[in-house]
Amino acid sequence: MSNHAAVDQFSARLAQLAVEVRAAAAAAAVITPGPDLSYLLGHSVDSHERLTCLVVPGTGTPVLVLPELERLGWSGSSAESLGLDIRTWIDGADPYAEVATVLSAVSALIAVGNHMPAVQALTLRAAVPGSELILAGPMIAELRMRKDADEIEYLALAGAAIDRVHNRMGEWLRAGRTEREVAADIAVGMVEEGHARPDFVIVGSGPNAASPHHDASDRVIQPGDAVVVDLGGPVPAGYFSDSTRTYQVAGEAHPELAAVHAVVRRAQAAAVAAVRPGATAESVDAAARRVVVDAGYGQYFITRTGHGIGLEVHEEPYIVAGNSRLLEPGMSFSIEPGIYLPGKFGVRIEDIVAVTEDGVRNLNQSSTALTVVG
Ligand code: ZN
Ligand code: ZN
Repeated sequence: MSNHAAVDQFSARLAQLAVEVRAAAAAAAVITPGPDLSYLLGHSVDSHERLTCLVVPGTGTPVLVLPELERLGWSGSSAESLGLDIRTWIDGADPYAEVATVLSAVSALIAVGNHMPAVQALTLRAAVPGSELILAGPMIAELRMRKDADEIEYLALAGAAIDRVHNRMGEWLRAGRTEREVAADIAVGMVEEGHARPDFVIVGSGPNAASPHHDASDRVIQPGDAVVVDLGGPVPAGYFSDSTRTYQVAGEAHPELAAVHAVVRRAQAAAVAAVRPGATAESVDAAARRVVVDAGYGQYFITRTGHGIGLEVHEEPYIVAGNSRLLEPGMSFSIEPGIYLPGKFGVRIEDIVAVTEDGVRNLNQSSTALTVVG
């Protein structure tokens, strides 16, 4: 995974996490493989039953506990140049006892990462008598949701890659093909245009477009169909794209399609325009929702307006009613209002934006117009 940030960036992240650990009055944060570990060390591995974890105490040197058999895989990684205390264990030894030696006696609270398997979390708790587990997720979210300039550039790179894929949609999307056939071609295109892999390829045609998280089925695409195409995947640095366009296949469209698409497009633009430092997350959701409600389709806008994005497709901040978090420069998230008419069709338009010092930067540039293909 990502190993592109400089060592001093990872150092700063570890130091910031230690601050969060102290603020939560916890002994340490214990982070297992996954996006959090990639964020903190620039390197991760596949998680399995053998315990690999980074222990970040409130004070003192972070410790990386690894199975001995995986030690070579970390050689040359930033984990070494960061000066971590790397401790390996061999099969038959107890890695949880090793973790316990790192935990200070100042607190019974152990903050475990959101991605730690329950079996490891509960085994750790049992290995430290009197301990209590809390989630480290909120602490790390405080770091991860504020992207630095390098991270924004990786997201911009991902945005440009998915724009190129959408711009090629006419090569693949036409009547007579199944959603699944089209999705398979798009997935190849995503890699051709710079993604490390496709993560999801949603092709929802006709009535399937009314289901926001429809995948891709064996339905044969019909002339005139509305087709919601929602695509995302990581670029090699680990940062994700996520972009939706709604297309019309050549032919006679549903009589409401053009009007509904125009409403969603206005709603999406209104929400993007509402993004700036100091605005609340919920105010951005409200900006999109107001347009849809005023057009009479409020009950069919059945999702939040957006989600944060970075090393994961969905992360904080969530752009949703009730989230009064103030937006700050470096926050990056989707703006993806939709109208979903059961049994008929659906429309969604999704861009990724980043909050700048004085406004918003749109990381997707492909046209949001109702493009006719096929
Ligand atoms: Zn999406
Ligand atoms: Zn999304």
